[in-house]
Amino acid sequence: MLLQDLKKILKENNFFLSKSLDQHFLYSDSILEREVEYAEINSEDKLLEIGPGIGTLTEKILEKTRNLAVIEIDPKFASILNKNVEEVIIGDALKVEWPECNKIISNVPYSISSPLIFKILEQPIELAVLCLQKEFARRMVAEPGTKNYSRLSVNCAVRADVEFLETVPKGKFFPVPRVDSAFVRLRPKNIVLPRKFADITRAIFQHKNKKLRNSLMDSYHEIGTKEEVASFVKSLGEIAQTKVLNLSPEDIINISKKY
Ligand code: SAM
Repeated sequence: MLLQDLKKILKENNFFLSKSLDQHFLYSDSILEREVEYAEINSEDKLLEIGPGIGTLTEKILEKTRNLAVIEIDPKFASILNKNVEEVIIGDALKVEWPECNKIISNVPYSISSPLIFKILEQPIELAVLCLQKEFARRMVAEPGTKNYSRLSVNCAVRADVEFLETVPKGKFFPVPRVDSAFVRLRPKNIVLPRKFADITRAIFQHKNKKLRNSLMDSYHEIGTKEEVASFVKSLGEIAQTKVLNLSPEDIINISKKY
């Protein structure tokens, strides 16, 4: 779609775009087509698109399959989406029940990136192709010991195979956002993690530049009582002296198993 065509649709429908709902539309045909290719769509697939807006990406998905449901928070887009998509759910993707699907595709509203990723990682799906802020995407694939390594990186590494696919320049969106974006593909592993994994990861990454022992004690309330965590720290041995930033995802799984 050309920028002038996108502007025409907005004008004809009297759509005023909301900054707080991250309404920036990707309009480059070739980039949208590549995004859809990354989803490796076949005739058996059931797709879910989150945040379709006026349907620039939706249109490209529909060229591959009609087996598509969408969730869009802004009711003003309902009429335009209803023309082409069978299942249009108007609501907050973080709150409404998601229809059954095996693949998810989304140009993610930036302000819900983190909770949305955590929700996607829990779905029994084959893959998700997502357009996210570039820096956020870099954090998802960051390695231990690097400045971008975070709770998000650990969760992505243990719960999914994650690929950083390509950078999407901010100038390919209208209105132009502040930063560049990137496509990421997730293939959730659907594994069962130790019971305390989520709590321990959240606790220690609040102090990622501290030694494991200090980070556990500083955020013991996220995990258990002060006495329990103190005795756990004593049982840990050498690894308690390692900086959180240098712990691998496997280390964190082992630590959680031990708790
Ligand atoms: N898919 C379109 C595209 O590719 O150009 C638009 C993507 S735009 C970055 C984000 C879209 O998500 C907007 O249409 C916005 O209204 C919608 N949105 C924002 N918050 C949402 C939420 N919590 N649940 C569902 N949709 C949301």
